[in-house]
Amino acid sequence: MKLFVTPKGDRWICSECEKDFAETITEQSWRVAFTKIDPMLRCSECKQGDIEIFD
Ligand SMILES: [Zn+2]
Repeated sequence: MKLFVTPKGDRWICSECEKDFAETITEQSWRVAFTKIDPMLRCSECKQGDIEIFD
């Protein structure tokens, strides 16, 4: 999950939604504050957690 700094505040965005937001991210110059893999985090768009499984 990436924490994006947007004009409307910080938002957690998953990798799937990041693809959908690609244009907006570029247009509004969203900045990635940091990346964190944490199953407890939920994407602010789709409400899903990280799906990466490290086994
Ligand atoms: Zn998402």
